[in-house]
Amino acid sequence: MRKGMLVVISAPSGTGKSTICRKLLQKHRDLKYSVSCTTRVPRPGEKHGKHYFFLSEKEFKQKIHRNEFLEWALVHDQYYGTPRHFIDSNLKEGWNIVLAIDVQGALSIHEKMPDAVLVFVTPPSMETLKERLAGRREAAESAAKRLASSRGEMSAARKYDYLVINDELDKAVAQIEAILTAEGLRTFRQPVSDLTPA
Ligand code: 5GP
Repeated sequence: MRKGMLVVISAPSGTGKSTICRKLLQKHRDLKYSVSCTTRVPRPGEKHGKHYFFLSEKEFKQKIHRNEFLEWALVHDQYYGTPRHFIDSNLKEGWNIVLAIDVQGALSIHEKMPDAVLVFVTPPSMETLKERLAGRREAAESAAKRLASSRGEMSAARKYDYLVINDELDKAVAQIEAILTAEGLRTFRQPVSDLTPA
């Protein structure tokens, strides 16, 4: 069976990454979303098991010790991690999986799984990002922290395979779809039987 493809999407907070992922998942039934674990508190409307698995620091550290994460990182003073079992089992079954994780996590996945496709999404400008973060119902201190770390994240964009500018949502989604199509056609992803017509 053809193995699934791992697609890692990173973007500074406020760039529209969650909306992009939601649209991709609605349109592509062969795509699954990897729900991460985190120690941060849920935002209004966020559901355990859908947006994140919300864990205590003790529970998260137990999972680290049991080697249950493919990668984990401290982001804005909170732990975030990608559950290993979900990724391994679904890739084996041929599912394509999308991960919305930070730069540290993406680069760590790239080292462990060089076939993963890394996509970096940027806002059209820092000004737009500031406006989007200010529009969130979040403490000013937290928004400032996110803006500061965005600058660092954007400097890592060159290490990704693809760079998509989210100046228009539908266009950004279409560009990522084009990436998925092309990546799915890479020869190394094709089963040998498809390369040797009868
Ligand atoms: P937020 O708290 O805004 O949902 O996410 C903060 C940052 O953590 C975002 O950049 C998000 O992509 C990242 N993140 C979410 N899940 C994971 C994960 O499992 N691993 C890593 N390394 N980062 C994650």
